[in-house]
Amino acid sequence: MGAPSTNSRHLLLEDRPPPSTPVMRRLPGKARPRQEVLRECEAEAAEMRGYIPQVLWVFLIPDLTRVFRWRVQLDCGCIPEVLTREDGTPPHETQWKAFHSPLPPGQMICHHDDSPPPPYRLIAEWGDRREVTFPADPDEPPDDTDPRVWSVIRHDEPHTSAFWEVTLACGHVEEAIAPSLDWVPASGPRRAAPERVQQMSAEFEDAWRANPELQTEPDREHTRRMLADGWPRPAPEQLCYSCPQVRMISAYERVGWLVPRQRQSEKAASIAPTPSRSALERRLQKAEAEAERLRAELDQID
Ligand SMILES: [Zn+2]
Ligand SMILES: [Zn+2]
Repeated sequence: MGAPSTNSRHLLLEDRPPPSTPVMRRLPGKARPRQEVLRECEAEAAEMRGYIPQVLWVFLIPDLTRVFRWRVQLDCGCIPEVLTREDGTPPHETQWKAFHSPLPPGQMICHHDDSPPPPYRLIAEWGDRREVTFPADPDEPPDDTDPRVWSVIRHDEPHTSAFWEVTLACGHVEEAIAPSLDWVPASGPRRAAPERVQQMSAEFEDAWRANPELQTEPDREHTRRMLADGWPRPAPEQLCYSCPQVRMISAYERVGWLVPRQRQSEKAASIAPTPSRSALERRLQKAEAEAERLRAELDQID
């Protein structure tokens, strides 16, 4: 026991080909009208000012004059527009978010309704822990629960569970529930007694025979792997909800500043006639970016 069998590990192997380095090039289609994007960003910033205390504005509300626009091509074929702070870090080197946790660089979420179901992935790393207290359950069972089942699973007192942040083998972050409050990763998983596991196996097989719809085939495979491993808690593998919606950035295009630099430097010039060091650095950065774009265009011609 301990590690999952070779067979189960095979099922958990990363199923994506290794990504190639994204190229900067002209992408099909056109960027959205700048004014439209700017209006949306301004509305969002105004909304944020409504619920964020003023002292935090400078940290939490993006300075729109420093926002740069890009278009990225994803391996699903979609070409969304993205925004970064400044233009120094291309979108495939930026860390985008899935739900609340950052994705590995080069990946972005693009939701498609026909994406495959979430796959099981091995837990590679344990992170932060948090405790959540739940109130006692009501006496009456929820509409979809059998009263006999409810009498067994119902918590008649408030209870607290420990949730651990886990990084899966695919690099995505999920949460796992610990078997008890005092459990730590170094303790390793707790396993059920062999007789109990045998009994559970028989019960699962009976339940699947009686109701073939009870679990999907991948869930059934997972249950079988866990039974074969002595029913470890926490389970060493976990569903990854990010994997089905994650796409790789395959190419990108520079669109431009959300607020044109020319207007910004005019504004700056009216206040301070001598360009500051940072203004000159920005101009140099812009010139370098333009040179980089022209070189890429030349490459295309070659
Ligand atoms: Zn897509
Ligand atoms: Zn994943």
